Amino acid sequence: MIRIAIDGPSGSGKSTLAKAVARELGIIYVDTGALYRTVGYYVYSNGIDPQCEDAIAKVLPEINIELKYEGETQRVILNGEDLGDKIRMPEMSMYASAVSSKPVVRAFLLEMQKSLARAHSVVMDGRDIGTVIIPDADLKIFLTASNETRAMRRTLELQEKGVDAKYEDVLADMIERDKNDKNRNIAPAVPADDAIIFDNSVMTVEESVKEIVRLLNERK
Ligand code: C5P
Repeated sequence: MIRIAIDGPSGSGKSTLAKAVARELGIIYVDTGALYRTVGYYVYSNGIDPQCEDAIAKVLPEINIELKYEGETQRVILNGEDLGDKIRMPEMSMYASAVSSKPVVRAFLLEMQKSLARAHSVVMDGRDIGTVIIPDADLKIFLTASNETRAMRRTLELQEKGVDAKYEDVLADMIERDKNDKNRNIAPAVPADDAIIFDNSVMTVEESVKEIVRLLNERK
């Protein structure tokens, strides 16, 4: 079994790197942000205040999430519906960030993530993978990159999906979301003590993958 945790703020390049590492090692890539986005989407669709933990707690039993893997693509199925890119919209990022600070939501998603990491060799990306979900991971990476690099990446990503995203708005949303994620009381988005900090603006994806495989071999 191989278990790699890749954490870091939004737009730090986690998913691109995690996918490339998973492909190189022939194991699955698990995007845990999609789970929080899915809860955020449900809360949004039902007109619930994402700050109201009691109201969220009431609807959690109505939520059934399945993850399907097709190659390196993870599909999220919410109550039988494939959500596709609906959870990628900027509004859903803010909803995901708001609901993710609620202990009841983190508890709801905890076992699903832990059991995936127990059952499979995985590269898992998120905010608390190295600290909470796989504290005994073979390798923990915490990715960083400048705010400007991250916001530019996110803007291009959204524009490629046909969203009319503006760099200034993406940058402002990202800073707000990072602040929420870093300062929340539960599972704050901070590096594990034994994580390796990787600045993703200085290496290409290929170089980063090589370095991660080298670090993994060194530790295994
Ligand atoms: O990674 P992504 O940007 O898709 O995550 C959306 C939001 O979900 C993050 O801003 C964060 O608030 C939350 N999240 C989390 N813990 C994770 C993954 C995501 O709190 N492991």
